[in-house]
Parts: sequence; structure tokens; C-alpha cells
Amino acid sequence: MAALCALLEQPTHQLLPDSVWASGQPSIYQHLRSNEALSLSGDVAECVLCPDCLSVSVRPVPTHAGAELPYQCYCGECGWVDLPKERARLWQVNPSKVAIWLNAALGLKIRHPVSEVVRGRLWHLGAREHKRKRHNFFFGCLLSGDANAIQGEIDRLASPGTEAVITTSDLLALQSTNLKGRLFIPLQAIAQLRKGNFAIEGLDAYFDGLARTAVTDETSLRLLDSKRVALIAGTEISLSPQVYGFLKVLDEADGDEVHKRKIAAALGIAENFRYADIKKHHRTVFDTFVQSDQQGNYWLHPDFLVLERGY
Ligand SMILES: [Zn+2]
Repeated sequence: MAALCALLEQPTHQLLPDSVWASGQPSIYQHLRSNEALSLSGDVAECVLCPDCLSVSVRPVPTHAGAELPYQCYCGECGWVDLPKERARLWQVNPSKVAIWLNAALGLKIRHPVSEVVRGRLWHLGAREHKRKRHNFFFGCLLSGDANAIQGEIDRLASPGTEAVITTSDLLALQSTNLKGRLFIPLQAIAQLRKGNFAIEGLDAYFDGLARTAVTDETSLRLLDSKRVALIAGTEISLSPQVYGFLKVLDEADGDEVHKRKIAAALGIAENFRYADIKKHHRTVFDTFVQSDQQGNYWLHPDFLVLERGY
């Protein structure tokens, strides 16, 4: 599993044939091949281990047409040795097949076909209820290479806080992109190989908030986008769509003043709305995070700007 995940993060997704035979688990590779998650590429490896002595590095060369095996190699120890194509060509992993497999494993296959939304990087797997909340599942690899396009597609397909992106990408690296704060689930942590088959387990922890929010006394808007909550002294406070929208406008202004006209437009309400009416249901949230000049301008308290947006 670790090898597969690492492979998905390599731009060419290719693997030397020796890795398959030297892995000690050729049956797993064969299983992946039968699922088409792995396939043989058209590219011949620069060098492979001689299959007879397993100690000399040899270069596969195509045999003449009509030969029983398509490749051979010359080994200083063993002379000319025939090579099956599985030992001569590079293998490659096919991320879209991994997406199809995840779609089935999550039970989404009947209702949602997989769609590739960012070429070679992001697949939408479909939506389903999990823990009484609707989630939009994605599979992604090489995410930090095109974070803008990926953010755009996630925003287009999933309303804020409903996305769950299963990925092989390095989560720490993603924290320095504008994908920071999204719900990412490492493929390696939830996919298990059991009796040669894949299974998903341990998904729940990612939706309990446990996997992401340690017990702290943190006060922040760090989870504003991903979970639509404000953290006050470690407590997650769920935000109504209106309050979320209000904070989001201020968050996007990065601490600058925003006039209520602009907020009203974003929320789709009348320009002369009463701030007190919006505030009354979430008084603590507004008192903590929002400052105002009483002239119709609002801004985020500078202590709680979500920094390191990473554009
Ligand atoms: Zn040899």
C-alpha cells in the first residue's frame, strides 16, 4: 500500500519491473494488475536484474519479430537470457482506476459515476451520508502541483465543509497551499490489503474531528472552511449559513474593513439589515472575531486572521 501511494505521487507514475519481483509480494502486484490499477507501460526499462542470476544488471533489448518472448538481455554471467515483457517494461499505476475502486469501496458506484475533474490529479467520487452529514468524496494525487485548479473544482462540486478528499499527497505540504484547512484523508491510513483485496476502514475518525483537532483551548477560524465551525477555547461552534457567510466575507478581505453593503450582497439580504439581528444568535462568535466602527464597516479581529494562505 505504501509503495502504491508513493507511486501515485510520482509524476510519471512509473515503476521499475524489478520492484515488482523484488517486492516479495508479486501476488499483490498481480492483483493490482488484474484490477488495472497497475499496468505495463510501453516504455522499456533502462536496466533490470538478470532473471537467472539476480545479481547482474542487464539492459533489455527487443528480440527479432516472431520470437516467443519479446525481449532478451545479455548477462556477463549467464549469456543471452529471454525476458517476458513483465520483466522488461516499466509498470505504471493508473490513478483513475484507484478512483474507480474507491468509488465502489465507498458504496457510491450505483448512484455516482466517477468523474475526473482535474486531469491526472482529482476525481469526484460522489456524495453520501456519513455520520448523519452529507459528504462529497474526492480522490486526489499530486495535489500541491495544481492547488488552484483543485480548489476551484472542490468549491464547484461541494458546498463548504462537505468535502472529503482521499489522497496520497503529503498533508504537511498541502498546508502551505490554498488547500489548507480542507478535510484530507490519507489513502494509506484507510485502505488496507486483506487477503489480497482492498478494504476501507477507519474512515469515521476523520469525521469526528478527532483526527484533526486535538484537545486544545484554541480560539480560531482555522476550521471555518473545512467544517463550518468557529473554535472558541477549544469548543467547535457550528455556524449558521448566514453567519458563516458573514465571516467568510471578512475572512476574504484579510482584515480589511468591509462595508455592510458588500456583506448584504454576499448574503443576499437587504442593505439596511440590522447587525444586531444577525449577531444575536452567535453573540460570542461575533464578540470574539468581529470588530466594527459602528459606521457600517466590519473586519476580522487581527488576532484571528487565517494567515499563510499560500498563494
Ligand atoms: Zn545473469
